This record gives sequence, C-alpha cells and structure tokens, in this order.
Amino acid sequence: MSDYKSILNKIHGTIKASSDKGKVADYIPELSKIDINKLGIALLDNEKNSYSVGDAQEKFSIQSISKVLLLSLAFSKIGDALWERMDVEPSGDPFNHLSLLELENGIPRNPLINAGAIVVCDILLEHLEHPKADFINYIRAISGDNTIDYDLNVADSEKKTGFGNYAAANLIKSYGNLNHDVDSVLDFYFHSCSVAMNCEQLVKVFYIFMNRGNCLQENNYLNVSQVKRINAIMLTCGFYDEAGEFAFEVGLPGKSGVGGGIVALLPNQFCVATWSPGLNEKGNSKLGMLALEQLTTQTGLSIF
Ligand code: GLN
Repeated sequence: MSDYKSILNKIHGTIKASSDKGKVADYIPELSKIDINKLGIALLDNEKNSYSVGDAQEKFSIQSISKVLLLSLAFSKIGDALWERMDVEPSGDPFNHLSLLELENGIPRNPLINAGAIVVCDILLEHLEHPKADFINYIRAISGDNTIDYDLNVADSEKKTGFGNYAAANLIKSYGNLNHDVDSVLDFYFHSCSVAMNCEQLVKVFYIFMNRGNCLQENNYLNVSQVKRINAIMLTCGFYDEAGEFAFEVGLPGKSGVGGGIVALLPNQFCVATWSPGLNEKGNSKLGMLALEQLTTQTGLSIF
C-alpha cells in the first residue's frame, strides 16, 4: 500500500515552491479575486482513509467539474437516451469554443464542454421537479455532506458576463436541441458552475466514480456500465484541448474547472483532488496538473 500521507506532503512542499503558478481566470469577475498562492490536495482511498495537505479545507468554485455531476444525474435519470442529444468525442478545442464542428447539427461534441453541459441542463430541467434544489441535494446525498452549496455571488457574476454561453445556448436552440427557454437553461447552468467545495469534499463526491457507482453512503445511483462510460468521458474529454496531455502525464480520468480545481481517480483505488487557482494557457490548473503527475509517478499507480 502506498504511503499517501508522506507522498502528498512531499509533493505539496515541492509544488508550493514553484515560481510559475499560471494565471487566475479573470473572465468571471468573482473568480479573479482568488489568491493565486492557495494550494490544497486531498485523497480518499478505497478503504475510506482520507489524507489532505495545505488548503484542502478551503472552499472554491468547482466550475466545470460540476459538468460531470450534471452528466451523472442526467444519465441516472434517462440512461442511454442521453446520447441522442450529444456525442462522446473529445473536442480538441477550448471549453468555450463555439464552432459548427463543436456543434454538428446542434449536437455538442461531448457533455463536458460548455455546449454539452448546457444540453444536459436542458434535459435535467425536464426530469427534475426543482432542478437547482434537486441537483445540490444529489451532490449532498452522494457525498453525505449537507454543507455543500451554491455560491450565489459566483452564479450572479457569471450570469452578468456569460455572453459566450448565451451565444452557445441560442445556437443550440436554433438547431432545436434545447426544449426550454435559453434563460432558464442558463440560470441552471450558471448555478451548477457556482457550486463551492473544498478538496476534501470533492473526493467524497467523486468517490462514486471510483467505487463502481456505489457512493460513500453505499447507495447505488449509477450502474457499473454507466460509471465506466462517465470515467471514459472524463479521460477523453475532461481537460478540453489538453485531455491528451493529462492522460500522458497523469494517466487518470479526471475533470478540471477554471476555479483551479482538478479531481481525478483510479478506479477501485483512490480519488484525489487538487486546488491551485493559477491556470495554464489551456485553462487547467498549472500546479494541480503538476501535483497529479508527481502523484502517479511517485506511487507508480495509474490506469495504464
Ligand atoms: N462557468 C464557466 C463557463 O461557463 C465554466 C468553465 C470551466 O470551468 N471550464 O465559462
């Protein structure tokens, strides 16, 4: 068994000293206020032992990481009918890219780019009675943590500046792949991006994808095949146009967000989350990627 505690401490020490920390996302005003020096790592193993170091208890905006949670809730509700509304191919483009290639006949390339998540939100509006409350309650239920919530300042900040997302939603709607009005779909989408969590909470939430669909509370929301598919999508599409690089350097399925968080997992072994708000030029946390590369290199554990 790996000595996660000392490995994480060592990685935290080395990474914390890096002078090039990337750049905090500033296109969402509320995110630009975050201190670039924050660095947290948390790991939860298959025996429910947890390890954490640095700022692992400080909440941040999980942003696009929530796209995996939207996807999993929609998948649990409608199963494979989901794939009539979106594809599962990596885009090789930035998360907010808006081209016809990204959206062939109104079908987004995958559920983890903005266009795909917007369609997932539309599906959930149809299948949830109280979408915002039901979504946050799903996250609370799979993690057993009732303190997880939306950050309404972030949701508001995104709503005021999310012009690209309005454009994407309108384009999708023009192709007939949104059943609800653009404002309601985006209101739900912006709220989902604003969910705030710390690294320790993120690993509890993502335990379900590490543990064959059984969450920490032992409830079975997803079956083994659905989890296989969600993990495959994370591996191929979880890091925008840097998914190949993440697989190459780290070798785990995972998902990043522009709030600087990354969560990744080794099926049946562990789930790990990092937070460092400085992003690289592809929009992924610069030091988070480095920390995860060191983790899989030093433990010799990856899906490959
Ligand atoms: N809320 C962000 C947006 O839609 C999410 C982007 C991200 O984390 N990649 O622009």
